[in-house]
Amino acid sequence: MQNSWDLKAHLLKEIVAKGGWVSAHNHLDKAYLIKTEDLELAYVSLQEKWDLIDELKQKQTVDEIYDRMAFGVEQQIAQGVTVLCTFIDVDPLIQDKSMRAAERVREHYKSQIKLLFANQTVKGVLDQKAREWFDKGAEFVDIIGGLPGKDLGYEAEHLDILLSTAKKYGKMAHVHVDQFNTPKEQETALLVQKTIEHQMQGRVVGVHGISIAAQPQATRQKLYREMKEAGVMMIACPTAWIDHRRREDLVPSHNSVTPVDEMIPAGITVALGPDNIADYYKPFTDGDMWTELRFLLEACHYYDLEQLVKIATSNGRQVLGLI
Ligand SMILES: [Zn+2]
Repeated sequence: MQNSWDLKAHLLKEIVAKGGWVSAHNHLDKAYLIKTEDLELAYVSLQEKWDLIDELKQKQTVDEIYDRMAFGVEQQIAQGVTVLCTFIDVDPLIQDKSMRAAERVREHYKSQIKLLFANQTVKGVLDQKAREWFDKGAEFVDIIGGLPGKDLGYEAEHLDILLSTAKKYGKMAHVHVDQFNTPKEQETALLVQKTIEHQMQGRVVGVHGISIAAQPQATRQKLYREMKEAGVMMIACPTAWIDHRRREDLVPSHNSVTPVDEMIPAGITVALGPDNIADYYKPFTDGDMWTELRFLLEACHYYDLEQLVKIATSNGRQVLGLI
């Protein structure tokens, strides 16, 4: 029997009733790569990490990538995830290896879970070789993925390529934005502007949006209005950025997490995902969806049970274009 105080049990029951967890953002082709002897590498900056595993990527075989992705998918199925979207690296180093592994994973688990793939543009899209692989990846994936921060100073051009490609193929776009918890970043605002320019309203999703909470209230509220107007949605990956390093910048007091407590009341669709799992980015993240939801509700002091269930289920389907 369920105790009335047991809010976790209530949420889990509701999540099952709504069709199970939707794990909207992962990087399963990189998961389970961390080793105890390499833990020091987890301290380097995110920008350095984007190139850190280059050598490892070149050595990886399709079978090795398949094994780690398959293990990750099984871990998610075991906790009741019924829909999962994972980014996979498609770039001049990994080439088509993650795509080949992903194809096999989708085929093997197709009766147990709905799997969708997006291409991670970890080498940017402006470099000529990176662009060639981006174009190959764009044909394969279900969702066009992006990382404008990798083309620093040329974020607008990066977004133009992503969104025009997504439009051409009739696919949605998922874009890593505003990751560094600083008001100097305004990538979500740029994403909204580009969504309108490319007439991709309702087809574009930001991932993270951490820096939004570092903006003054008026800037945040203006952004939410513009996001709603352009139908730009967001995916929160709470444990991915709650570890943001201490800094001396003076910004509005907040936790380093997607501000769902403001976004949901502003009418923005927010979904949930674990992001990196047991890799050089996040060595201790284990992909547990309850942990992600718990971090989100605690970090935002957000207790709207109905909305939390939607974040874990139907909002995920919406950001993946399934409803
Ligand atoms: Zn990510």
